[in-house]
Amino acid sequence: MSDMKVSILIFSIFIFIVIYSCERDTKKGLVISFESKRNDMVNKQIEGREVTDSATLNSMRKVERHLFVPKDQVNFAYEDRPLPIGYGQTISQPYIVGYMTELIKLEKSYKVLEIGTGSGYQAAVLAEIVDSVFTIEIIPELRSSAKERLEQLGYINVKVKIGDGYYGIEENAPFDAIIVTAASEYIPPPLLEQLKDGGRMIIPIGSPFMVQMLMLVEKKGNEITTENMLPVRFVPFRRSD
Ligand code: SAH
Repeated sequence: MSDMKVSILIFSIFIFIVIYSCERDTKKGLVISFESKRNDMVNKQIEGREVTDSATLNSMRKVERHLFVPKDQVNFAYEDRPLPIGYGQTISQPYIVGYMTELIKLEKSYKVLEIGTGSGYQAAVLAEIVDSVFTIEIIPELRSSAKERLEQLGYINVKVKIGDGYYGIEENAPFDAIIVTAASEYIPPPLLEQLKDGGRMIIPIGSPFMVQMLMLVEKKGNEITTENMLPVRFVPFRRSD
């Protein structure tokens, strides 16, 4: 090989190494910046507003929220607000996710039902804490993308079902806790039935497109107690026709 060719080869290898390491550093930099944004989010928006349950806080520090939003929303993933996820639906504000998760007092051995999979973010936050999560979504496209995302991220303890969550999931009931992430006018009776004795449910109750009340429901034998916790605004609970 001529000297000229050897020089061109060495130069090309040099350029390749420079481009490769720049790209790697950029990716590393992005990951670090998402991590610090995520920690900031938990410190200020969640812990800073008096969510104290360490399992909830640890889970939200771990789950990479930016992987659950559409590409054009990635830069806003750690902001203090809900974000659009397509089909007129939203991923809830981080604080609301933390607040609801804390209120149902999760234990490791729990089997939890979520109504309204959406992006799959709330399901992932639950799955970091408990043994088993069932989540149900009424919009087929959202169900497919959330299922794929959760599988890719290795959440083998989450089952993503399609259907009208009004009916819960009879074949997997009873559940230790139920979390409803769409606003309903009333508590769907099948969900109350599928809640274990001693179990807790958190559900936004009220009219669609208005302010609703986040309601904590507890089942003790035949007695159902409810407590209004916080005014919230959720997307409507839809019904299959
Ligand atoms: N928990 C989600 C956000 C929920 S947005 C997240 O972490 O991203 C509310 C979701 O509830 C929407 O995706 C909507 O399609 C779904 N939904 C509304 N009514 C439903 C019903 N009856 N059964 C199942 N899912 C429902």
